[in-house]
Amino acid sequence: QSLLSISGLHAGTEDKTILHDINLSLNAGETHVLMGPNGAGKSTLGHVIMGNPAYQVTEGSIVFDGQDITNEPADKRSLAGIFLSFQAPVEVPGVPLHSFLRAITRKRPELKMTARQFRDRIDEIAEQLDMDSSFLTRELNVGFSGGEKKKLEMLQLLLLKPKLAILDETDSGLDVDALAVVSRGIEAYRETCNGALLVVTHNARILERLTVDHTHVMARGRLVAEGGAELIGKIDRDGFEQFARVEEAVC
Ligand code: ADP
Ligand code: MG
Ligand code: MG
Repeated sequence: QSLLSISGLHAGTEDKTILHDINLSLNAGETHVLMGPNGAGKSTLGHVIMGNPAYQVTEGSIVFDGQDITNEPADKRSLAGIFLSFQAPVEVPGVPLHSFLRAITRKRPELKMTARQFRDRIDEIAEQLDMDSSFLTRELNVGFSGGEKKKLEMLQLLLLKPKLAILDETDSGLDVDALAVVSRGIEAYRETCNGALLVVTHNARILERLTVDHTHVMARGRLVAEGGAELIGKIDRDGFEQFARVEEAVC
């Protein structure tokens, strides 16, 4: 049985359908890559899987870990084990990162920890990510650089150990340091949690260090091609043009 099973999904905003007839399934522990030109609908798919109320599902279903979550709110999905990296996290002045992280672990029975265990766990993750612990005393996202936001994302990923992490990297111009943090975070997540990944990226450098099980190509709100890791190199060489005919055929 698949961890995530999306069937005949149509979704969009109130005025327009963005995603058309999406079928995608992903097993526990697998790494899938989602590629496609700008505006294809990749981020929308991430938001729809997470349950962002800005989007409505008009047809089809999303089943996660044996549970139909198509109509569940985002917090339920999060507790069920889905994690979506945010492109533009909210800044929360006055809330130290440390308190925020403690608060989100308290919501999860499976992460029940004493204060001491929590501190140890955070230290362990900070070491895995090669993070300075002074980072934790800072206010949530206030004045965070792009790289620091990525660090926080990876920290949350390793702390929460979701069953499925959707990492949408496309719009963030990651510098070398941020890339290294993301790569390390993904590796640690794969190793310690055997978590499944849906990675939206154009960055071959992140993908280089990942064993990709499946690649999906999206164009104009539809999945137009799929394959294994070899598809990434093919797209790198020949771009998305090669799928134009497929796309016309389905439109
Ligand atoms: P990608 O991540 O592949 O670049 P997006 O999912 O961000 O693509 O966007 C797909 C299409 O849906 C674009 O045309 C975009 O403008 C539109 N879209 C996405 N979100 C919204 C929204 N909240 N309201 C209106 N249009 C949206
Ligand atoms: Mg598949
Ligand atoms: Mg996007």
